[in-house]
Amino acid sequence: MDRRVLIAGNWKMNKTLPETEAFISAFSELRTVSDEVEVLLLPPFTSLDCAGRLLAGTRIALGAQDLHFEEAGAFTGEISAEMLKACGCTYVLAGHSERRTLFREDDPLVNRKLSAALASGLLPILCVGETLEEHRQGRVEERITSQLIADLDAVDAKEMASIVIAYEPIWAIGTGETASPEEAEETICLIRGWVAATYDEHRAAVMRILYGGSVNPENTASLIAQSNIDGFLVGGASLDPDSFARIVTAACSGS
Ligand code: PEP
Repeated sequence: MDRRVLIAGNWKMNKTLPETEAFISAFSELRTVSDEVEVLLLPPFTSLDCAGRLLAGTRIALGAQDLHFEEAGAFTGEISAEMLKACGCTYVLAGHSERRTLFREDDPLVNRKLSAALASGLLPILCVGETLEEHRQGRVEERITSQLIADLDAVDAKEMASIVIAYEPIWAIGTGETASPEEAEETICLIRGWVAATYDEHRAAVMRILYGGSVNPENTASLIAQSNIDGFLVGGASLDPDSFARIVTAACSGS
């Protein structure tokens, strides 16, 4: 089944406006993005408008790291789906582990955000993953399944076509420790199997499932060689145009 590789760079709380402009200019010179892979940048809110203007008409997509589930109103400090779309965003993250752990976002909240993204026409990237303790206790399947059930509550098969899932073991995020290609493949197969059982075989076969957790130019090729890994959510290594371009290149030649 043909699933287009997606490489997403999550900048987290990094890069001012001038730094955003410098990244996009350097990355565009280093890398002509081909149709083979889809490249996505997820800058902080303050850089979205500027990035949206610079990326308009290019093959690089734009997304946001978070959104609020309401359309508008008295929600000081929050950002709506329509605001993101007005900046040129087509994707948005939902349930990143840093939102879950540092900002206490629970599954019902992730579900509301994901539903708001779908309702607005944004494509959500749902992040799921287990802690180190759960990993050591052999509770990966239990943890991932419970997140999928709660986060995708009331999402129908048609809506599933707009969702990307990112498997991000929490112990591998920003730690330099990566899941082995076989380990990542095993859990991603488990996720695909859950989608098949809960929705249908076709939905599972076309669903893009990414891996995230200390991806870098050196480990990209071995991870993308796994048949169920459809791309990456990259944090630290997406901040440098050269290393992000090398990841995209390695994913192109390995996919
Ligand atoms: C992430 O932020 O989703 C991530 C995977 O970060 P890193 O690549 O730095 O581990």
